[in-house]
Amino acid sequence: SLTHPAHVVIIGAGPSGSLAAALLNKQGIKATIIEKSTFPRFSIGESLLPACMESLKKADMFDAVNAAGFQFKNGAAFHANGQHTEFDFTDKYTSGEGTTFQVQRSQFDKLLADTAEQQGVTIHYQHEIKNIDVGREKPLLTVLDENQTSYEIEADFILDASGFGRVLPRLLGLEEPSTLPPRRAIFTHIEDNITAESYDRNKILISVHPDDCKVWYWLIPFSNGTCSFGVVGEPEFFANYPDDHLAALKQLATEESNLKVLLSQATYPNPCGTIMGYSANVTKLFDRNFALLGNAGEFLDPVFSSGVTIAMKSAELAADLLVKQFNNEVVDWQTEYANTLMTGVNAFRCYVEGWYTGEFQDVVLHDNPNPKIKQMICSILAGYAWDKSNPFVAEPARRLKVVAAICKT
Ligand code: FAD
Repeated sequence: SLTHPAHVVIIGAGPSGSLAAALLNKQGIKATIIEKSTFPRFSIGESLLPACMESLKKADMFDAVNAAGFQFKNGAAFHANGQHTEFDFTDKYTSGEGTTFQVQRSQFDKLLADTAEQQGVTIHYQHEIKNIDVGREKPLLTVLDENQTSYEIEADFILDASGFGRVLPRLLGLEEPSTLPPRRAIFTHIEDNITAESYDRNKILISVHPDDCKVWYWLIPFSNGTCSFGVVGEPEFFANYPDDHLAALKQLATEESNLKVLLSQATYPNPCGTIMGYSANVTKLFDRNFALLGNAGEFLDPVFSSGVTIAMKSAELAADLLVKQFNNEVVDWQTEYANTLMTGVNAFRCYVEGWYTGEFQDVVLHDNPNPKIKQMICSILAGYAWDKSNPFVAEPARRLKVVAAICKT
């Protein structure tokens, strides 16, 4: 590989940061990650999509993830008012990996960061970005180290991979409200004690609340007999439930008949987390000397588990462009980064919006789907949202309208 004098500083060691660093390092570009916490640290976002396995392969991280003992995942199950459907991710329109994992993010993110470090990436833990000056030729970051001592670091380019920390959007005033209404998620890790033989631990289970199709639950099994369990709804919905999130979650678990049976023996040994108003947008995804990756840029909604896949895709696109740029090739960040990334994000956005109107729920839960159409939808659900040969990627709104109309008849 080429050896460049260039130095890229990356804010955050989540999946987008570790992946971008590994990909740059592989091309001989010096990559330094500044991470404010110590690892392992908790993160929400535990159900991966097969498409992100393709990103892990490019970063030489696939084998490490495969060997780590995470829960195998081969699809998604949807349940609403007694109707049940399953999507097998290996039966899809786009070629590529058809299986993946459900991961405790504390372990997964540490594994990616450690693998990047072994490959030659430098990571400074407990160092927090406090300020940035992007007005200079080379951007300058002000960092607070673990002893609360401030220092400055100069880079040729900054990648903001700070997730919900959204460091550059906040410091540079790039934040923009999301077009999606604010929603709240409450969640915990349970000992599920599920005995039902019909229950498939290899799939995420998404269930819809019987009284409100805008409210849904996730059940994400891990390989150690525990599950991540959470509920998403608009803030007003939770007003009718106990203020104590764990009590609310337990009550909600009894309101959906399938979950009520599945989780009848579950225990709740851990505290409940909550996150609210997580959907976010920005006025721009890049500038002359920085780009925003993953959640530091845009975050839609958790319903299709697309967050980590989008984060990894952004890392891949940005790393490829930086390699070209440092090789003095002409790079068009608008076309090759922002527009390309948004192809997939906008496809997901269309199906997220359709989920909450109920239209896409009808499509997903249809009991006699056209097999070819199901494969195309399955590709999106498996994370292959950048394959423009899939009509459901090329024209998401029109295709959704057509197929929703068919499902209604
Ligand atoms: P992160 O993983 O958030 O990493 C950012 C890192 O930056 C952190 O380690 C943080 O400590 C560090 N940082 C922050 N500020 C600073 C600073 N000032 N200086 C230095 N470092 C800093 N996605 C899925 O793929 N599957 C799911 O099932 C899923 N479920 C979700 C459920 C909910 C309720 C929500 C809200 C999201 C869910 N997501 C899911 C999305 C997922 O959480 C994110 O998309 C993913 O974690 C983004 O990765 P990232 O690399 O962009 O950032």
